[in-house]
Amino acid sequence: MSEITHPTIKDGWFREISNMWPGQAMTLKVNQVLHHEKSKYQDVLIFESSDHGTVLVLDNVIQCTERDEFAYQEMITHLAMNSHPDPKSVLVIGGGDGGVLREVVKHSTVETAILCDIDESVIRLSKKYLPGMSIGFQHPNVSTHIGDGFKFLADKKNEFDVIITDSSDPEGPAESLFQKPYFELLYGALKEGGVITTQGSENQWLHLSLITDLKKSCKEVFPTVEYAYTTIPTYPSGQIGFMVCSKDKDRDVTTPVRSWDTQEEDKLCRYYNKEIHKASFVLPTFARKALR
Ligand code: SAM
Repeated sequence: MSEITHPTIKDGWFREISNMWPGQAMTLKVNQVLHHEKSKYQDVLIFESSDHGTVLVLDNVIQCTERDEFAYQEMITHLAMNSHPDPKSVLVIGGGDGGVLREVVKHSTVETAILCDIDESVIRLSKKYLPGMSIGFQHPNVSTHIGDGFKFLADKKNEFDVIITDSSDPEGPAESLFQKPYFELLYGALKEGGVITTQGSENQWLHLSLITDLKKSCKEVFPTVEYAYTTIPTYPSGQIGFMVCSKDKDRDVTTPVRSWDTQEEDKLCRYYNKEIHKASFVLPTFARKALR
């Protein structure tokens, strides 16, 4: 066991206790703490777990584990990318671990991909401790900007085909990225026919009213708004959702407009495929009713 201690780790187990998921907490067995620092924006903890690989934790909340991160990164990325007929210019807000970039550059249409994360420490540490995700930064078409996503978008007009917001939860530096003024900025920064996905307020079991509010805010800005979700064992209640929106009122984002053949899917993806793209928008009755 390493020398570094952290308040979330007791008796060799990390515990993700938060009022965002009252009365429940994911616990992961810790082999060793690899790094801990307080950056300008957040508490950054990286540890090696016994069964889930390296884990990135920001402000005591799990951001990704090497074991299941692909379920999130692939879905938040390809739901948007494959809902656009020809995505050439892509912006990622947040996403400092590089996993979304890794997925974006799998699309041969992409000419430029810019990532804007508020916290240089997440990028720096992911490059050191999460090479499987940060590999996304190495692609020649990728550039990085350190800064607040909200501010970055303020003077961007008609520039991007796809914008993916891979932010942390609404408590902390990402708060502004879950509100209507942010969706207005996204709308303005997209070219005609552009598509966005955004981390959609956690999941149906815990945050249905938040998701409903978020969908309402998106609907006030975008003509096409749909909610999808992925399963992922180490996020609260084992799932997380996304808002998928388009500037095009006739775009059906629930069906991919482009797809890889099955052989390519097997090579490129571990979670996403064209069937799961469609299935991810199918909600259980209690959630469908609330979001209608
Ligand atoms: N997939 C993860 C999840 O849902 O838990 C998110 C992972 S990603 C590492 C989240 C990133 O959002 C962090 O690197 C954080 O620094 C960044 N972030 C938070 N607020 C931001 C803001 N206002 N502008 C840009 N990036 C932001």
